Amino acid sequence: MAKPATYIDNNKIIVKSQWCKGCGICIALCSSKVLVLDNRGKAIVANPAACTACGKCASHCPDLAITVNHAAARTKTATPVLPA
Ligand code: SF4
Ligand code: SF4
Repeated sequence: MAKPATYIDNNKIIVKSQWCKGCGICIALCSSKVLVLDNRGKAIVANPAACTACGKCASHCPDLAITVNHAAARTKTATPVLPA
């Protein structure tokens, strides 16, 4: 069975693998180490919990292969801890 062309993680980050050329820019720019290259040389979401939805990967991808769903990311924002 063929692998899905698009990886979706919790609707937060979408990497369209058919557009990804494996340049690694997104991986180099993500300080949270969310993305890695898979064995096909395509960027995939490996550590979704660490994503802050900053959008740096998406805005620097030369092939526009990444979309960050900021609305989905907001719903995952942790409840702030108020000072005692
Ligand atoms: S920057 Fe874009 S083309 Fe380059 S590896 Fe990341 S998703 Fe693929
Ligand atoms: S949105 Fe920011 S934290 Fe999330 S994968 Fe992209 S660069 Fe990393």
